[in-house]
Amino acid sequence: MSLQADLDFTSTEVFEAVSSEAYVEHAAASLISSLPDDGLGLEHIKKHLINDIAPGFSGSSRCPTYYAYTTGGVTDAALFADWVASTYDQNVHVHLPRDTVATSVESTTLRLLQQLLSLDEVRFPGRIFTTGATASNVLGMALGREFIVAEAGRRKSPPIRTSVAELGVLEACFQAGVENIQVLATLPHSSLYKAASAVGIGRDSVIALPLSDDEPWRFDMDALAKHLASETASIISISAGEVSSGRFATNGEEMARIRTLADQHGAWVHIDGAFGLQALVLPHTEAYKALNEGVSSFHLADSIAGDAHKLLNVPYDCGFFFTRALDLQQKVFGNPAAAYLSTPGALSIPTPLNLGLENSRRFRALPVYASLVAYGRIWHCKLLERQIALARRIGSYILNSTVYELLPNNDIDQIYMVVLFRAHSESLNAQLVPLLNASREIRVSGLPWKGQQAARIAVGNWRVDVDRDFGVIVKALEAAAVAGSAPGSSFP
Ligand SMILES: *Cc1c(COP(=O)(O)O)cnc(C)c1O
Repeated sequence: MSLQADLDFTSTEVFEAVSSEAYVEHAAASLISSLPDDGLGLEHIKKHLINDIAPGFSGSSRCPTYYAYTTGGVTDAALFADWVASTYDQNVHVHLPRDTVATSVESTTLRLLQQLLSLDEVRFPGRIFTTGATASNVLGMALGREFIVAEAGRRKSPPIRTSVAELGVLEACFQAGVENIQVLATLPHSSLYKAASAVGIGRDSVIALPLSDDEPWRFDMDALAKHLASETASIISISAGEVSSGRFATNGEEMARIRTLADQHGAWVHIDGAFGLQALVLPHTEAYKALNEGVSSFHLADSIAGDAHKLLNVPYDCGFFFTRALDLQQKVFGNPAAAYLSTPGALSIPTPLNLGLENSRRFRALPVYASLVAYGRIWHCKLLERQIALARRIGSYILNSTVYELLPNNDIDQIYMVVLFRAHSESLNAQLVPLLNASREIRVSGLPWKGQQAARIAVGNWRVDVDRDFGVIVKALEAAAVAGSAPGSSFP
């Protein structure tokens, strides 16, 4: 563990959201780009990494005021466990209970995670750590595809048995009489299109069914029912929450209706809960009513994608996937049985390499285990409450400001840990993101909302301090407003 002592600074926070460009340039210039015949040695590389390269890194995870992406940070317990995971370098591929406890740790951790999120472990026996929510969405689309094509075959007369996993998309769809697959969603995350492309459904098959211009993140339930009633085989993907606004696609009643419709039409229900799933830890109070509703009845889903490197604040890369259909999961992702035998009689924990994309797998469960056990349920709840409190305080500030406008609406009670806003003045708005980021104390991202440029603050770091961080953000908002209206500036 001597390297850890060298890197002790990793557990302290930094107050620069991004490094200065000079450091990044220096780091890039310092890279050794021709392979040395004789290695430069451990001492040399340690100094090189710490003195030359690390200063060129973004403060994204270590700085509490980095809001550009929902990156989260790394808790001290998770960091320690990540060192242990690297040091012992376990391959969590096959369940070998006499050789290593690694698969037991992973299995236990996934159940702890289900306890944190109140998702019944009996209802969701299929569970696996992935590289992130993108990979989890790929798993969801792959299982959905397997299910809906097989289901179309079962509903034929006479019924036939068919499987994409066995025959491939073309032949299985042909046998089942499936000419089209559609993924019905509202404002899906970009990774859902990637997942649809990767599993042979196609990006163009992802169809958004927004309720209205005012609430595009919610499902138009009538349109959903109509699309499901068509002959097309369907996966329903629920954005929880929507990545720009942090809003949720459904409420409990709509989830129940979606389940009924899906059962009627042989559809699969997937939830993309990369960061929104965390709302399941919140208490059921008036303040969180909209959020409680947004994640209500998620036990009715067939598959759920989540991220641990976001709100759980463990290092990259770590996502997770839950499904009610362990059998389908093994059918789609199983290796041919003979190649990877587990110890006989030890099948209570399914062998992980038959449950996801990877065969050899990093021990990414260990940081999650450490963080969950070190800090416990209440800490995770209080953390999200602090993140929401900061987001809502910024929301209120913007609501009362004459310079800025809160998006997508003025309802503070709907704000999760994402704040979307723009400047009233078009000229200020055009430069808003660079002006806000100018001091390097905060980092926000720009993204389009209803065809106009908007700015987004996503509060995801465990080091969040509501009073302190609110001050830093307001300072940046005020400075941007002043810069935008200064005489001689390009902002009249
Ligand atoms: C971040 C995110 C993803 C992708 O997750 P990665 O961990 O980056 O792969 C997918 N969906 C939503 C809603 C997200 O916020």
